[in-house]
Amino acid sequence: MNYINILAATALKKIAANSQYAKNFLQGGELFEFLRVAANRYVIAENAIDCLERVKRLADKGYEIGLEYVGENVTDIAEVRRIVTQYERMIEMMPPRGLGERTELNFDLSNVGLLISRDLATESTANILTRAMQKRVFVTVSMEQATLVSEILGVISRLAPSFPNLGITLQAYLHRTPRDLEHVLDIGCKVRLVKGVYEESPVDALPRSQQLNDRYMALAARLSDAGTARSLATQDPALIKQLIDAGLLANGAELEMLHGVQPQLLRSLRQDGILCRIYCTYGDNWYLHFLHRLAEAPENVIQALADFADPSRITFGSGY
Ligand SMILES: Cc1cc2nc3c(=O)[nH]c(=O)nc-3n(C[C@H](O)[C@H](O)[C@H](O)COP(=O)(O)OP(=O)(O)OC[C@H]3O[C@@H](n4cnc5c(N)ncnc54)[C@H](O)[C@@H]3O)c2cc1C
Repeated sequence: MNYINILAATALKKIAANSQYAKNFLQGGELFEFLRVAANRYVIAENAIDCLERVKRLADKGYEIGLEYVGENVTDIAEVRRIVTQYERMIEMMPPRGLGERTELNFDLSNVGLLISRDLATESTANILTRAMQKRVFVTVSMEQATLVSEILGVISRLAPSFPNLGITLQAYLHRTPRDLEHVLDIGCKVRLVKGVYEESPVDALPRSQQLNDRYMALAARLSDAGTARSLATQDPALIKQLIDAGLLANGAELEMLHGVQPQLLRSLRQDGILCRIYCTYGDNWYLHFLHRLAEAPENVIQALADFADPSRITFGSGY
């Protein structure tokens, strides 16, 4: 990325992290409606019924599916309860078969109570995991800002012994992650490996760089050696090629990408026999999710402007 693009990405991540902007956005109004047009490229539906109908079409093409009722940073206990109910309903509505063998549910612990207390997040997650286990649905918890990582790993460590359907996301950019990975391997969870999306200090994290890609490769190799269930979640074509060349996208390893990002690339990888998962979000609280997609690739800002001008450019499923 050139310098201007790095600055643009930093600005978008700062706007995404501003809680007042997020609050204004959530109160609805014209800005919300305006942005929704372009967010539809990434957020597949507003409600669970439409979401399930749509992901079924992707599953029928041979993709594994991940689902998230999108949101984070909830500080109101009634809202946490409402969100947990949404997840429980989604699990109830899932067909026993028909969404692929290994459908996953995903969420941020800050969406289910972590900003209120660790106990609330643990209780909410345990409730979702219990329902999910009955339906043979896997749950992978997302990883958030560096300040929350120890809390999140604490919740996972508490729940993992009782829930074999629990997985965790680890961020390659954090300096602490090689150590955290050893801990997670000890507790035996599935791992989703990402580079990391938040704006973090150099004290905690590497910026986008060759050094970060090298660390991602080393962590992916460690996961492969350990033989643990794993998803290599990256949308970086050069890194994906390196993973394939190193034989790391084999033996059960999944390649996972967010819905709406480079569908043609994912399709060609699936046609080459790589196990591909599409991470699909639904719901209304997509402010941060949308801004992060724009920050990841500056050309997505231009694409979003084109989508505002002509919403018919977005056709669900096209490219996959
Ligand atoms: C399934 C999944 C789950 C995730 N969960 C988390 C999480 O829990 N916590 C967290 O911190 N982060 C999460 N992320 C985001 C992740 O950390 C990265 O920010 C994101 O994947 C971008 O990094 P990258 O490796 O794909 O490539 P980058 O290093 O960001 O970009 C390299 C190149 O890849 C291409 N590219 C990357 N993203 C896009 C895009 N949106 N559109 C077009 N091209 C693109 C561009 O060519 C870009 O130049 C998740 C990502 C995925 C795919």
